[in-house]
Amino acid sequence: MSNLHKRAGADRSAAALSVNPLYSGLISEGGVPRYRLPDGPMHPDAALAIIRDELMMDGNARLNLATFSTTWMEPQAKELIGECLDRNMVDREEYPQIADLEGRCVNMLTELWHDPGHGIGCSTAGSSEAAMLGGLAMKFAWRRRGHAGDRPNLVIGTNTHVCWQKFCRYWDVEARLVPIRHHGGAFDLRLDPEDVASHCDENTIGVVAVLGSTQTGAYDPVAQIAAALDRLEAERGIDVPLHVDAAGGGFVAPFLQPSLVWDFRLPRVRSINASGHKFGLVYPAVGWVVWQDAADLPDDLVLHTDVLGGPQETFTLNFSRSGAPIAAQYYNFLRLGFDGYRAVQQTCQDVARHLVAGISELGGLEPLTDGSDLPVFAVRTADDLGCTAHELSDRLRRRGWQVPAYHLPPALEEIQVLRFVIRNGFSFDTADKLLADLREVLRDVRAPGGPEPRARHPLTALTR
Ligand SMILES: *Cc1c(COP(=O)(O)O)cnc(C)c1O
Repeated sequence: MSNLHKRAGADRSAAALSVNPLYSGLISEGGVPRYRLPDGPMHPDAALAIIRDELMMDGNARLNLATFSTTWMEPQAKELIGECLDRNMVDREEYPQIADLEGRCVNMLTELWHDPGHGIGCSTAGSSEAAMLGGLAMKFAWRRRGHAGDRPNLVIGTNTHVCWQKFCRYWDVEARLVPIRHHGGAFDLRLDPEDVASHCDENTIGVVAVLGSTQTGAYDPVAQIAAALDRLEAERGIDVPLHVDAAGGGFVAPFLQPSLVWDFRLPRVRSINASGHKFGLVYPAVGWVVWQDAADLPDDLVLHTDVLGGPQETFTLNFSRSGAPIAAQYYNFLRLGFDGYRAVQQTCQDVARHLVAGISELGGLEPLTDGSDLPVFAVRTADDLGCTAHELSDRLRRRGWQVPAYHLPPALEEIQVLRFVIRNGFSFDTADKLLADLREVLRDVRAPGGPEPRARHPLTALTR
């Protein structure tokens, strides 16, 4: 499916929506056109009912292990979101208070990520916009170091999110891909620090490490990557900034792995992004990007305008954006505090590990990660199972579960995995129901007359 929608043909644009006869008295004669603006208004109850009926087909969020996005917030948060939907984040003159809440959130996060006290940052629509801003800051800083005319490159792993390739393509930066290691009969799902350093040169605007991988939940070894870049600077004089894409981990590691050093405790880490709408526990769309020092953000990227009455500085890709998710993020910070976040994330991780243990016992499925980084894990089908990950995903879908199947990145693309994302609200009971369904699905595929066994593949994952 694409986010680009083609114009429907003339026959289809004339088609009407099917409307429940109970609402037919509330709509105008001639029905509701699907692709054309209706000629006149309809009753608000009818509009609500028609759209609700259609959205119902989207599937049950509680059974959705595919998405990282928040699918549940407390009623009080929803109330607050409703009250703030009309606040435009960009209009700081008119809504100084919501701008202040944004500033408090930036401060809380930079402190959580151990900045020495000179940090600067902002909210974004999500980690993708944060990646664009973080990448642009690195590109402008590199150019300021006197590289006009050269082609910049960004060193990223094949395990990074597509937003980094997007950044490179949109802003004409070479994406220098470091493959996931593949040696002998084994592979590692994390970036290799020496490989990273060997991909860098004078035109490297930065390196991106992930905390953790969208595909497997694994954290890149950020401190070791920082050390490799320190050695690179000492030996060859090439000073490469490190950005940590902590879309998920920024809201997990401070609570579950407080002694893991991945953040501004490492001087090499110049900027960090995170998604408020993932483990930040806020409905879409909100993300965050912060720099260790205000000097890491070149001021020629910040534009000045007085179009809204009063001088404003902006560093964003879009202009207008709702302030509601910012208020909701601040709500979670007040409501949960450090201990509350820790309790939520710990439960997610406990459930993830419970599922991994249960899946290991089923046989036929081999976990590649165990939920001990992000509460996310990937599982490959055993060679003798006789069924692909995609077939298993289909069979689970028929029972209501959404568990995506996909191929690992280049060099390991022949390996198909299922990914499980455990979010707030996914309980031990639900996990046990999923295990019971998985057991039955596996029994079906192994039954005589089930799918044929497929060819063996010798690779195994390296574990820590
Ligand atoms: C989800 C994700 C992104 C993109 O985040 P959005 O907030 O959805 O834009 C970027 N990087 C990683 C590692 C992610 O998991």
